[in-house]
Amino acid sequence: MIKPTHIEHIGIAVSNLNEAIAYYEEVLGLKCYAIEEVPDQKVKTAFFKIGDTKIELLESTDPEGPIGKFIEKKGQGIHHIAFAVENTDEALKQAESKGIQLIDKQARKGAENLMIGFLHPKSTFGVLTEFCSK
Ligand code: ZN
Repeated sequence: MIKPTHIEHIGIAVSNLNEAIAYYEEVLGLKCYAIEEVPDQKVKTAFFKIGDTKIELLESTDPEGPIGKFIEKKGQGIHHIAFAVENTDEALKQAESKGIQLIDKQARKGAENLMIGFLHPKSTFGVLTEFCSK
């Protein structure tokens, strides 16, 4: 069993990072504590903390990137849910052994230096699912 400890973050695709940050800060009263570009995923990210969970806003830096394509197809909104696990590689292996289709066969480095890996939404009832470990 993978047994995630908590929801590490919720990834939300937005067209305009600054406008979205203003909403989270000025309406919800959360504080953006980091903005980071992840060239690998062609995104610029902004982070907010709520308890143990983060909100990760994702703005595409390239229309051909995964977030650019997502917004074109589905519009802005929840893009993925990330579960905190002990070991991302191990969690991916366990999911695969139970017949879940993987996007990442191996963990790779994501924002905040975490090791991340994605499961295919076809196998997870429509939710793009990420595992995250330190
Ligand atoms: Zn994520």
